[in-house]
Amino acid sequence: MEKIANYIDGALVAPQSNEYLDNVAPAIGQVYSLIPDSTEQDVEAAVAAAEKAFPLWSGLSVDERSAHLERLATAIEDQADELAMAESVDNGKPLSLAKTVDIPRGSANIRFFSHAITQYASESHSMGDIAVNFTLREPIGIVGCISPWNLPLYLFTWKIAPALAAGNCVVAKPSEVTPMTAYLLSKICEKIGFPKGVLNILHGLGHKVGNAIVSHPKVKAISFTGGTATGAHIASIAAPKFKKLSLELGGKNPALVFADCDFEETLNTVVRASFANQGQICLCSSRIYIERAIYDKFRDAYIDKVKQLKVGDPLEEGTAQGAVVSEAHMNKVLGYIDLAKQEGGKCLVGGERAHLTGRCENGFFIYPTVFEGLKLSDRVNQEEVFGPVVTIQPFDSDEEAVELANGTEYGLAATVYSSNVKRCHGLARQLDFGIVWVNTWLLRDLRTPFGGAKSSGVGREGGFEALKFFTEAKNVCVKY
Ligand code: NDP
Repeated sequence: MEKIANYIDGALVAPQSNEYLDNVAPAIGQVYSLIPDSTEQDVEAAVAAAEKAFPLWSGLSVDERSAHLERLATAIEDQADELAMAESVDNGKPLSLAKTVDIPRGSANIRFFSHAITQYASESHSMGDIAVNFTLREPIGIVGCISPWNLPLYLFTWKIAPALAAGNCVVAKPSEVTPMTAYLLSKICEKIGFPKGVLNILHGLGHKVGNAIVSHPKVKAISFTGGTATGAHIASIAAPKFKKLSLELGGKNPALVFADCDFEETLNTVVRASFANQGQICLCSSRIYIERAIYDKFRDAYIDKVKQLKVGDPLEEGTAQGAVVSEAHMNKVLGYIDLAKQEGGKCLVGGERAHLTGRCENGFFIYPTVFEGLKLSDRVNQEEVFGPVVTIQPFDSDEEAVELANGTEYGLAATVYSSNVKRCHGLARQLDFGIVWVNTWLLRDLRTPFGGAKSSGVGREGGFEALKFFTEAKNVCVKY
């Protein structure tokens, strides 16, 4: 059975404890590889390697750093098929999704920041004929990047790329649930001779090795994507040590469907937004609000489309819904389905585990599920399920739509479907979210600020926001 290795100082190494954890392929429900159960000792080694590499890496010209990242992006593209297969097996997502979304975005993240750093400039502030101020933006040093399991390589590279481009050395931890593509990335780094110690990748448990990265005194900034409760825990450790923190957390995202929307286009987009990646994208719409005038028509058409989503072997063409990521997560999602029933929700489609036959008979599959009749205050409308479970309900006015949309502790992404331009602009201002999409979903320009309001996070990623986060600003005031 394949043993995944840590990547420290340019070498693939076993964890110092020599202890391993099982890595389960969710579509077949079987252990298929072993993950290092890394500890503080491995973090020490990674930090030492990063510290040694920092002067050289941060001292490279921007063009040289950019060229290293370009090579890495190209090497990911060269191995795209292998990476897509690995992502699908490790996570349970349809291979088609890994091929078209996850892996292309992994290389695009790195290429984007290899270019962005060459365009990154800082400000100067003139004080007339008295003095001039200019801002130096210097790399922070060693930074920690911790990413979740839903879009493994995609979100891992989204963090490490700006950190590296800005001249930092990185100690990174992918989710223990989906370590494979980060491991393959470390093999790619080794193969192309990516500078040693600049990127270090440790595998293992969040509360163990993740905690040790966050707590390490030499790790000066933490970029974290994951659940809100974990984010709060990380903040409680990092904040008293005055580390820089970027937290991208959970969501409970509303979609507002108005009667004047483009019906067919909206229908297709809402179905995709609800169930892409089995609903395991922080940006997925999980509360669908539909203007009463079209409620029945839209609901019936939506349910028809959802019924057509084929739950199946992620490796088979035509599969729209793969496995959810783990048995524990499946049970959590099924728990929310039970709760929705207890809360009085009417299940319109799905509502249970899907039992496949053949290769996937022990896999963790759930039918895409839609409830109606739940109140905003019900737990299923307030808490993040992070699976293929959606609620739908009617609304009667723009004011009510905004009230419903804003009515949770989360504020990641809202989506509005309407052909009334004035309404769309007005709603965009009133919706308390880090991202508002109008007549689209998941359309991303990597230059834009990305992140959540309220309990969905602190700080923004993307474009120069990320480069700002991964640099320390120093004002230099020179008197004439
Ligand atoms: P978790 O918060 O459980 O874990 C995220 C990462 O943090 C994992 O690598 C995890 O390791 C690690 N971790 C866990 N505990 C600690 C700790 N004490 N110290 C340091 N690291 C720790 O999230 P999930 O992996 O379950 O991901 C799903 C969540 O991520 C959802 O809430 C989703 O909304 C959110 N998310 C947010 C996005 C955004 O951009 N806002 C994008 C994508 C997802 P391990 O896996 O070993 O536990």
